[in-house]
Amino acid sequence: MRSEDTSITRKPNKIERIAEANLPTEFGTFRIVGFRHIDTGEEIAALLKGEPTSDVPVLVRIHSQCLTGDVFHSMKCDCGRQLQQAMDQIEQEGCGAIIYQLQEGRGIGLMNKIRAYALQDQGMDTVEANLTLGFEADMRDYETCAAVIKQLGIGAVRLLSNNPDKIEGLRAAGVDVVERVSIEVEPHQPAIGYLKTKREKLGHLLENLDA
Ligand SMILES: [Zn+2]
Repeated sequence: MRSEDTSITRKPNKIERIAEANLPTEFGTFRIVGFRHIDTGEEIAALLKGEPTSDVPVLVRIHSQCLTGDVFHSMKCDCGRQLQQAMDQIEQEGCGAIIYQLQEGRGIGLMNKIRAYALQDQGMDTVEANLTLGFEADMRDYETCAAVIKQLGIGAVRLLSNNPDKIEGLRAAGVDVVERVSIEVEPHQPAIGYLKTKREKLGHLLENLDA
């Protein structure tokens, strides 16, 4: 569903490009570009490969910060492996972007995520835990990501994601998502229950889980 009709009333694009630099990584050399939202102060980083143009659809991953998975290699989720795979796929493609948004724990923040993990230790799944803490299952919004995508000169997007809600969220924010490119990694054994909850309760498209 496209939502061009909402674009007239949408808030103006209030982000500023703060700084950028080269970033050599184990997967290849990227540019890292830092942005800040002028009103909220929200900071967001993009890893950029190649020089996107507005006339060719660009491979994009919106990655939501997961301190436990990205940094500590937690086996409760597949975030760290997805991030690495996205970097690898974009490096192979020669052009693309990873927008790293600081919305830890699907938007509930790090402290609440740890509270949710404590509830999961008592047997709740990820959705039940968020609801018990008084949050929605997914609190993320994609307006700032959409602004970053535009700032990077990207027109149409081929989105690396298993999450249909993310595609809808980006489209609602005015991004032209022309294709979904699936990103499935070999899950850690402890993450399987979490991934099944994501599939059953959050609508994620995970075909290889039962294999
Ligand atoms: Zn994670």
